[in-house]
Amino acid sequence: MKILYFDLSAILIIDIMIVDLFLRKNQKNFTNKILLFIYINVLITTIFDLWSEAYNIWFLANETDSTFRYFLYYGYFYSRNLTPLLFQIYLYAVTETLHLLKKSRKRKIILIFPYCLVCALLISNIFLNNVFYFDDNLIYTRSTMFYGLHICAFMYFVYGLSFLFKYRKVLSIDKFISLVCFYPWNLFAILVQAFIPEYLVEMFLNTVSLFLVSNIVQRLEEVINPLIGIKSHIAYSTDMKKVFYLKKPVRILILRIVNYPALLTILGNDACNDLMKQIANKMKYYFTTSELYYLENGLFASSFEQTSFDSSRDIIQSFRDSICGSFPFGKMELEMDSCLCVFSCPQDFDNYDKMMSFVYSFYSYLPANGNITFLADENDKQKYKFHLRNEIDHIISKAIEENRFEMYYQPIYSVKHKKFISAEALIRLKDEKFGFIPPDLFIKAAENNGTILQIGEIVLDNVCNFISRCTEAKLPINFFEINLSMKQCVQVDLKDKILFYLKKYNLKPEQVNLEITETAANTAQDIVLDNIKALKDIGVSFALDDYGTGYSNLSRIISLPLKIVKIDKSMTDKVFDSKINSVLKYSVSLLKEIGMEIVVEGVETEDVLNCFVQMGCDYIQGYYFSKPLPEADFIEFIKKHNI
Ligand code: C2E
Ligand code: MG
Ligand code: MG
Repeated sequence: MKILYFDLSAILIIDIMIVDLFLRKNQKNFTNKILLFIYINVLITTIFDLWSEAYNIWFLANETDSTFRYFLYYGYFYSRNLTPLLFQIYLYAVTETLHLLKKSRKRKIILIFPYCLVCALLISNIFLNNVFYFDDNLIYTRSTMFYGLHICAFMYFVYGLSFLFKYRKVLSIDKFISLVCFYPWNLFAILVQAFIPEYLVEMFLNTVSLFLVSNIVQRLEEVINPLIGIKSHIAYSTDMKKVFYLKKPVRILILRIVNYPALLTILGNDACNDLMKQIANKMKYYFTTSELYYLENGLFASSFEQTSFDSSRDIIQSFRDSICGSFPFGKMELEMDSCLCVFSCPQDFDNYDKMMSFVYSFYSYLPANGNITFLADENDKQKYKFHLRNEIDHIISKAIEENRFEMYYQPIYSVKHKKFISAEALIRLKDEKFGFIPPDLFIKAAENNGTILQIGEIVLDNVCNFISRCTEAKLPINFFEINLSMKQCVQVDLKDKILFYLKKYNLKPEQVNLEITETAANTAQDIVLDNIKALKDIGVSFALDDYGTGYSNLSRIISLPLKIVKIDKSMTDKVFDSKINSVLKYSVSLLKEIGMEIVVEGVETEDVLNCFVQMGCDYIQGYYFSKPLPEADFIEFIKKHNI
């Protein structure tokens, strides 16, 4: 007598699993849909199995006509053999390779061929009884072609396992194992049932293996952000790894609520999460066919298939309009500042890390106020800029590792001596991919990522070394100007560091002039003043760089023991503007009166040169005389011009 409890338990478990899947908020995605199909199919199969067995036990004795039993058995075979096909589609979905299936007719044929064979066998059975039949005593009997069904199942077995091994890299190890296990579980079930037919364990074990899949592969906490109701940052990173591994073409929309920190302060954590949830709901409304992710802290992403993208442009604009500007939230009207960007993978980013760093930093250098940047529409120069900014941290750390920074020197002309008596040391970085990188850009990035102190030491070491070689070669340069970053200015041991390099290269302190920016000079931190004083006491002088760019606090500048003030190029360029001209004249005479020397930066023409010479400026620096030069060219320049 057959034991029906296994089938009954299977029905119970699968019911729970279906309800569970329904309750999941992300049930709309394809992976879940196909899993739901599998569950329903397994449920139908188990019902057919149970029904036919129950029928055999209870009603067979009264039966004269086996039509209904045929119906039950056909139902069972059609649905039972459909599971491996659905499972294979599920494998395509979890490995994010569905696009390969959609594109390739060969794949489609291989996928459905075994099931078509099953259908052909079952149809032929109606006429030939070549798979199974009920004999004269109405006993279920297998025919010769029955094993054709096993062969079809075996095809899916081989297909599925080889597929999983091929794409194992896109799955974490636990997911991979639980998917692979689906096959031995089912094989085991078939064997048990073949040798101990009274144990109807096939559908039970089938359900158990699906249960494992649902718990490990579809792990909810990894997939969904429970507070916001869309996929989490973990899901984003796993999905994106797959995209890059499989070179799957996708378009990604990223949205950053730029004023998220302010909203968090005003609303508090819970209400702010509610607000993010409302934005997520808007995304669900507008982007029905794409995957949605919440990457924490007001950052959202949505991935589209590339083919369907062009029609999505208008939808993206409408979505933007719906969240931008004032946003009703409870009784409040909140001002939402957002920055959106759409890019393509793998066209715009050749690897996962670059894409991720872009996603987390794009808003710091793309326009906000609801602006949407379509990377594909940007010109090459703009794209170069994005990529450079995105990769700058990596470029800097690689340059430090490979010691690839170089120092250039720009000669500075002394009006009084009518020759070049000083020079400014300017750092240069050449990258294989991006070429020369503007120092403004990488110095700022180095200040943000913390490598500026290391770069500062590299600069000091290189420049002091060069000064000592110039001294040995008797090059007539009195002092070299070295730029200090704000972060260096507030170092407690700045004096010791400078002294270390002076000693290392046997230099006199007067040979070095340190440039600090207006921001550093204006900082309220006493440490800057202490450093300047301490270094001045040992003979190292200071210059104030970029005069005229910040909010010049003249009284603060005057109070600092500086030797030189450098007028910034932005002011130099406007010297013929009457107002700026008056300000410059006034500043120069004031600064000179208190004993400071003036360097004019960015002088490119003779007119400008004459104008500043007339004002009484002491030094001129600019392309009019020379651009910054590599060491050898600089030495040659000085030898040639300082006769
Ligand atoms: P800065 O210290 O104000 O340097 C002057 C900048 O003006 C240099 O740009 C120089 O090449 C440029 N310049 C000089 N004369 C002319 C001219 O006639 N026309 C034009 N168009 N430009 C001229 P550079 O080398 O690109 O450096 C930019 C900034 O990067 C520097 O501004 C400085 O703030 C920073 N920097 C450069 N080297 C270092 C360094 O070793 N350490 C630190 N902390 N900052 C550095
Ligand atoms: Mg400078
Ligand atoms: Mg400057």
